[in-house]
Amino acid sequence: MTSKSKIDIVVADATGSLYAKEPKVYPREIEGRFQRWRTIAVFWLLGMFYAFPWISIGGQQIVLFDLPARRFHVFGMTFWPQDFYLLTLLLIIAALSLFFFTAVAGRLWCGYACPQTVWTEVFLWMESKIEGDRNARMRLDKAPWSANKVWRKSAKQFVWITFALWTGFTFVGFFTPIRELGAEVMQGTLGGWESFWILFYGFATYGNAGYLREQVCKYMCPYARFQSAMFDRDTLVISYDETRGEPRGHRRRDTARFGPASAALEISNPLDTEVPAGQQRVLGDCIDCLACVQVCPTGIDIRKGLQIECIACAACIDACDAVMDKMEYPRGLIRYTTENALLGRPNRLLRPRTLIYAFILASVIGAFSWLVTARDAVIIEVLHDRNALFRTISQGAIENSYNVKLVNKTDADKLLSLRTESGLPLRMIGKPSVTLAPNEVFSLPLTLRADRGATSGRQPIEVLVLDDQGTVLARGKSHFFGPEEP
Ligand code: SF4
Ligand code: SF4
Repeated sequence: MTSKSKIDIVVADATGSLYAKEPKVYPREIEGRFQRWRTIAVFWLLGMFYAFPWISIGGQQIVLFDLPARRFHVFGMTFWPQDFYLLTLLLIIAALSLFFFTAVAGRLWCGYACPQTVWTEVFLWMESKIEGDRNARMRLDKAPWSANKVWRKSAKQFVWITFALWTGFTFVGFFTPIRELGAEVMQGTLGGWESFWILFYGFATYGNAGYLREQVCKYMCPYARFQSAMFDRDTLVISYDETRGEPRGHRRRDTARFGPASAALEISNPLDTEVPAGQQRVLGDCIDCLACVQVCPTGIDIRKGLQIECIACAACIDACDAVMDKMEYPRGLIRYTTENALLGRPNRLLRPRTLIYAFILASVIGAFSWLVTARDAVIIEVLHDRNALFRTISQGAIENSYNVKLVNKTDADKLLSLRTESGLPLRMIGKPSVTLAPNEVFSLPLTLRADRGATSGRQPIEVLVLDDQGTVLARGKSHFFGPEEP
């Protein structure tokens, strides 16, 4: 830092606050092909969020994270604590997907799918419906308080708060059956924790999407900080084509942008393919209308180059394309492109980085799918009697007792029976069997007997659980104890 810049900062500190207040961003509404994709993403993602808790199949909510019962119900599958390694794999898949898509297409997640982006879109839409377009909102904020301002601001707050509370309620509905939750709300019997989480999540939605907006992306989101590590010269980014756009300036539509090759103002570049043969550019395609800046939800000017604040929402592409159409210039002054393409070099979609990410991602997805489909339908836990390792009965036979805990993880009744496997001549006393309802947990007593002299000390055994067809569904390990032979 130069001594001059230090002096500048000291002077600023002495005259003002320690930090500059962020000016409020008023993004202008925009239409265009990327905005349509963003709208589809909003409907699809929020549609899933708000609808899933209300859909039940066979009386079971299709997505329910039942923490007290330690079970997760997801699209007809029930996951138990024993399945939590799958959750780890799922998180690894999410992280690898982020790496892969970021390496290929930049901040796709930020622009189209991040909850912060999606809910901010909805809050902005509600704001624009109540307070008007960008200019009307700016005028309203600057205007002194009046009946019109009080009415519009109150209406906006009412709609925002209602929507935020509904969001909080829906969020809790993924953890508590939502219909029961709704009944508790209606009857005023909502529990303390549920009330807390509805208000907490509702408040987070209201604050983040209503007020913090782009500041979450700029200052709070860690992804914005490390995503550049996944970028390379072939990553798709949204860029302003400086070669084509400069020198920028206002002009009439019929103003000539190209002149004879001998023109005094010489701006020639071999990458500028728009220039007719024998001519050179005297005026760039950017008419400096600032439409791209006005639509930007983070309030930046993409013409200054790629910036960390850019969430790749592509609103500036739609805005600039509309301007290009009006000027009858080719679209794409701001576009999805790569650093290599802007430098006139070939693009490489298949490169070591993307191939490695794709390979690892496909492998983990494959392993996850196999593990999900090959999961045991039944959980078995064999607990040896803690009071006596063994007992000797008539004629010196040895008996061991066990408690076999069975869990039916499927959504259908299951008739289950037991069998043992070991190197010992063991007999099962009785025929332990039980019919378990879906997700039922049951403890079945089991007694095994060995003839005198047939066993000694501690011997490993396996207890098998079978369905009514005799198929082995799961195996549990334990031991058979007998007197130590000299
Ligand atoms: S919208 Fe296009 S023409 Fe207008 S200022 Fe931005 S880059 Fe230039
Ligand atoms: S610069 Fe363009 S793509 Fe980036 S955040 Fe702003 S409008 Fe979206």
